[in-house]
Amino acid sequence: MSYEAYKDESLGFTTRQLHAGYNPAEHYRSKAVPIYQTAVFELGDYDRCVRLFDYSEEGHSYVRFSNPTNDVLEKRIASLEGGSAALSLASGMAAISNTFLNLCNSGDQIVAVQTLYGGSTTLLSHILPDYGITCRFVEDENDIESYRKEINEHTKAIYIEALGNPGMNIVDIEKIAELAHEYGIPLVIDNTFATPYLLRPFEYGADIVCYSATKYLAGHGIAIAGLVVENGKFDYLNGRFPQFESFYDEYKNCIEPEQLKRELFTKRLRIRFLTDLGAHMTPQTAFYLMQGMETLSLRMERHTYNAQKLAEFLQAHDKIESVNYPGLEENPYHELAKKYFPKGPGAILSINVKGGREAALKLIEHVRVFGYMVNVGDAKSLIVHPASSTHFGQTVEERAKAGVYENTLRLSVGIEDVEDLIHDLEQALEYVE
Ligand code: PLP
Repeated sequence: MSYEAYKDESLGFTTRQLHAGYNPAEHYRSKAVPIYQTAVFELGDYDRCVRLFDYSEEGHSYVRFSNPTNDVLEKRIASLEGGSAALSLASGMAAISNTFLNLCNSGDQIVAVQTLYGGSTTLLSHILPDYGITCRFVEDENDIESYRKEINEHTKAIYIEALGNPGMNIVDIEKIAELAHEYGIPLVIDNTFATPYLLRPFEYGADIVCYSATKYLAGHGIAIAGLVVENGKFDYLNGRFPQFESFYDEYKNCIEPEQLKRELFTKRLRIRFLTDLGAHMTPQTAFYLMQGMETLSLRMERHTYNAQKLAEFLQAHDKIESVNYPGLEENPYHELAKKYFPKGPGAILSINVKGGREAALKLIEHVRVFGYMVNVGDAKSLIVHPASSTHFGQTVEERAKAGVYENTLRLSVGIEDVEDLIHDLEQALEYVE
């Protein structure tokens, strides 16, 4: 019996999340993807060693560079995303920071929206500038001219997020991608809150997708993980990226040139940065991540269903001042949500509780199903008070820009029975004066 599902890209999303990239015949017919728990692989003979190190032969030598378990994961996410290649890294922040390092040399610049995950903002405003890579933040992320104003000859990428945190703001990805390509630069998007099940950014022109796979992709909240996927269409040899030109010249005689062009971003990321900065994902984490990803589409359906129901319940509650969820008609991002998120705009929402900080904290104190923690994207429902945790240390003005006030709570809606989630918040709200 031949098993072809691992490479059949015409199969549906849910089928591919279980089968893509893994051929049991190449692994002693083990049905589960094995964890290759080794640090190193035998080289065989001298000729093979040379072929592995000049990348003319695909294979594994040392686990800081690659591993068969991670290989399956990388092929699987590339398939789900509709991309040409992917790389697995130790965390979402490793995925994002290595992406910027691959795109920029000292003196280069990134143009980014202001409403980024805090770690990404810190990286772009305080860490990379010390190494000569700077960031210009756009003033109005909904106005395309705002992006144009910040682009100059040093700009090497535009960086956005699929769903902002905790404001759940949505940008017009298609228009921003068009603008980026007008200047010969790639659009990079953090798709953590959406996952490829809700949004496939390549279909709207994005060029690189980054993930904190710690969140929905894993779903179980047991591992820190990051992924980068490239779409295979962007031309890094367009004259704007000297580092990719020299890399291409170095490897074009070893790797088939058309394949090298399609995977140029990922190949350079692996060969230059994974190899010598050392932020590869462990094979055990890759295994955990694939366990979670096997149920991604089913979880995301339930997550978004629950989030919509909960948003509607909270909006009608007299102790709630406002609910921020793009699935609600009144939400300023509702039209963009209809365009980009026909399956539902994720499952994170923020609420402002009447009665200020005290009232918000009272609610947290009395929830019984929701867990009080800073993570998001877990199968279990989570709640947090951003002003005293994720956005602690920011000024009142900075927080207001992100939609964070003293009475704001962020909810990451899980996949429990929605009646239980509604009841949990209902009973906790009874304690709010
Ligand atoms: N991107 C987003 C949108 C996030 O929410 C996070 C973490 O919360 C990250 C990136 C960083 O990911 P990690 O914690 O896996 O490094």
